[in-house]
Amino acid sequence: MNTSVRAKYTTVIGLEVHAQLSLQRKMFAPEAAAYGALPNTQISTVSLAHPGTLPLINKQAVTYAIKMGLACHSEIARESIFVRKHYFYPDLPKGYQITQDKTPICRGGHLTIDTPEGYEKHIAIAHIHLEEDAGKSVHGLVQGQTLLDFNRAGVALIELVTKPVLNTSEEAYRLLSEIRKLVRYLNICDGNMEEGSLRCDANISVMRQGSSSFGQRVEVKNMNSIRNVQLAIEHEIGRQIMVLEDGGEVVAETRSYHAVTNTTQPMRKKEVLKDYRYFPEPDLPPLVVSEAWIEALQKTMPLLPRAYYRKFINDYRLPAYDASVLTEDKDIVLYFEELCQLIPYYKAASNWIMGPVKSHLNKFTISIKEFPLQPPILAELITLVERGQISFSMASQRLFSALLDQPDSTPLSLAQALNLLQESDTEKIQTLVNEVIAEYPDKVAAYRGGKKGILGMLMGEVMKRSQGKVPPQIANNFLLRCLEDN
Ligand code: ADP
Ligand code: MG
Repeated sequence: MNTSVRAKYTTVIGLEVHAQLSLQRKMFAPEAAAYGALPNTQISTVSLAHPGTLPLINKQAVTYAIKMGLACHSEIARESIFVRKHYFYPDLPKGYQITQDKTPICRGGHLTIDTPEGYEKHIAIAHIHLEEDAGKSVHGLVQGQTLLDFNRAGVALIELVTKPVLNTSEEAYRLLSEIRKLVRYLNICDGNMEEGSLRCDANISVMRQGSSSFGQRVEVKNMNSIRNVQLAIEHEIGRQIMVLEDGGEVVAETRSYHAVTNTTQPMRKKEVLKDYRYFPEPDLPPLVVSEAWIEALQKTMPLLPRAYYRKFINDYRLPAYDASVLTEDKDIVLYFEELCQLIPYYKAASNWIMGPVKSHLNKFTISIKEFPLQPPILAELITLVERGQISFSMASQRLFSALLDQPDSTPLSLAQALNLLQESDTEKIQTLVNEVIAEYPDKVAAYRGGKKGILGMLMGEVMKRSQGKVPPQIANNFLLRCLEDN
């Protein structure tokens, strides 16, 4: 779309993020809640809504919701109730979902993102509530039939709802990345969007620049990656602006995103679903959270991604990019922290993790927990490079892989055994330089006659003779001294 047309409008976005809690049991039923089990093997009379069965609150789910609330600076409700939200769906045996409405367990709070313009933005959170998931309707597996898998029915979820305060698809992307990091750090959800354990619905509206009231919002669903959430929002902004530019009106509706075509299609009109006939769940008592419980949980809160991000920038003086990449994965953070306790070369340590270490992890699709080199070994390797005993290229290309093959040997002894250490004997370096000067008298004369570019070729000769084992800076100094003193 023409950027001047686009510039006439302001975009407003609010996200609704569902996170499936990593729990042994369902939200109100005793059976297992693992992903990927054979269909209809994780079911019970409770989640199948047999008459006379009663729900029981999973305390661990409440703990997880409170932890998320604490991480988001939300207010934790001392008392909240569950309600029934009614709708008909074949994969919802009870005919209603137990959720929270007016009294969510967590209210308010915010998460912080860095905007592309380089400043921090607090994204206000409306609330976080607890609820149960529905089962799954499987279309297309058997032609002409829809199959029902109730394994997911009753699985515990939290839903985090932001206020309508995001203004670009990029901000939505960053917020969702932050939420995914957070649930992983807290260990309450695996954050896997492809498998649907983290899901995001995006509410999007556009209004004329300077308008004081928001435009009509449209809800977009079914994005299975953070990148697709961003693409879906971008597409929807363009679609709404086009509707308005053509003199039309944006319809209140839910649309479904199709990744293959990068388009959205209408799913249902919002009005049709309006009346969920919420009423308090009569089979559950109010959920009471004591101050002592909140305090105890507060004490167990780990350092969160944002705190590490700040620490890496402020204490270790890392660039924002490094801090952001390193804090992507909590286990990498812990590994990196261990390294930084051992050596003061923070930026070098970051380069090693983001470079050779990550390539190794990606190549073997393993996590840093399975990485064979423990922090003390990597710390020693980095120290050898930082002290100039081995060049970075020798260390990253030869010594690193040799160590991976023999993780029990030490970097120094292995470097010695493989003859990879740099020449620190200045006499030897001088001899090499003298040899090169003697061998190329015409080049030396040309250099002295003003062709300074020849230095590179002479340096190359010195490095070649040393098999890459003299520190280039030192060799360069020696060579220059010889060439200039005649
Ligand atoms: P509902 O319960 O009908 O889904 P909510 O008020 O809970 O409505 O809003 C759901 C989401 O829609 C929230 O994330 C909110 O920030 C967002 N939202 C509300 N109004 C707008 C708007 N005009 N444009 C974009 N997002 C909006
Ligand atoms: Mg909603």
